[in-house]
Amino acid sequence: MKKMLAAVFHKDEKSGGEIKLEEVDIPQIKKRDHVLIEVKASSICGTDLKILKGGHPATDNTILGHEFVGVVKEIGENIIDLKIGDKVVVDPNEKCGYCINCRRGLSNLCEYMALGTTFGIFQNGGFAKYCVLPRNVLFKLPDSIDMIAASLIEPLSCAVHCHNIADVKESDNVVIIGAGPMGLIIESVIRKHPIKKLICIEIDQWRGQKALELGADHWINPKTQDVKQEIQNITNGEGADVIIDAVGIANTFEMATTIWAPGARLVCFGQDSRAEAIIKPNDIVRYQRKIMGSYIGYAEDFLDAIELIVNKVIDVDKLITTTIPLEKLISTGFNLMKEKKCIKIITIP
Ligand SMILES: [Zn+2]
Ligand SMILES: [Zn+2]
Repeated sequence: MKKMLAAVFHKDEKSGGEIKLEEVDIPQIKKRDHVLIEVKASSICGTDLKILKGGHPATDNTILGHEFVGVVKEIGENIIDLKIGDKVVVDPNEKCGYCINCRRGLSNLCEYMALGTTFGIFQNGGFAKYCVLPRNVLFKLPDSIDMIAASLIEPLSCAVHCHNIADVKESDNVVIIGAGPMGLIIESVIRKHPIKKLICIEIDQWRGQKALELGADHWINPKTQDVKQEIQNITNGEGADVIIDAVGIANTFEMATTIWAPGARLVCFGQDSRAEAIIKPNDIVRYQRKIMGSYIGYAEDFLDAIELIVNKVIDVDKLITTTIPLEKLISTGFNLMKEKKCIKIITIP
């Protein structure tokens, strides 16, 4: 059987595990609705690091990489709308379509997905030369699209979803807490819409600078500045109408409740299952505020994210800080991620 290079996760119950570059068999189509794709670009996600540290579950012996694009190499006999050579992007979260959440239009909360089925986490993904996937997780891309830019479509779809949940208006002062890769991608989406002020809160110097480069009007560093006072000054005492918490720890959630304007929407985006925060219910009632969650996205968010890339609306060159061959995934890619001196790193198999 022919072999390919792949980044395989090896689980360790104590430490989380490690990722190793190995020669593995090229996967084969086994079902009629399967498609074999040749991966063209695969982006490293913060979740990949979390998996290795034991902060996110993943299946032992799985090829990681859940943000990826490729071209169709082979199709199962039931495939009628894809042909060899078509460019595709993968939605790594396969939805069943018939659970109660899917049928209520909340496909991002699909019960099948919650069993742990994500490609690149629980099933083989995109840190490899080839991948076999069911047709229903593939979105066809236009031939003209740049495939490195297209590898941002998955995280971008989550940012589009978050922007839609936040229901941002022209007269809103928007605050994003956290300028990690997702905070900055969300910022990139929000910046393309007319709003009053876009403010980023971030403790890291490098990331704070990136937030400004990507179009934030202000960067507040909570290490050295009084966040509440700074927001008061910048917004002429109005406060934040929309707050995106792209971190998701107790500190950032509670920080959000010190800067929110009457009628504000607080969108919880960053995830930490251990976080427990304190809130005064009356602060919500008396000022009619909303607290909302934004979790991955719907198929329509993928469609919108594709258009944002096709039409070059998003400043991809600023978001993609490094492109490396798959061979350097561990030596260069994961090391840069640990040092936090990067936004998105793209690997090419
Ligand atoms: Zn991801
Ligand atoms: Zn479902």
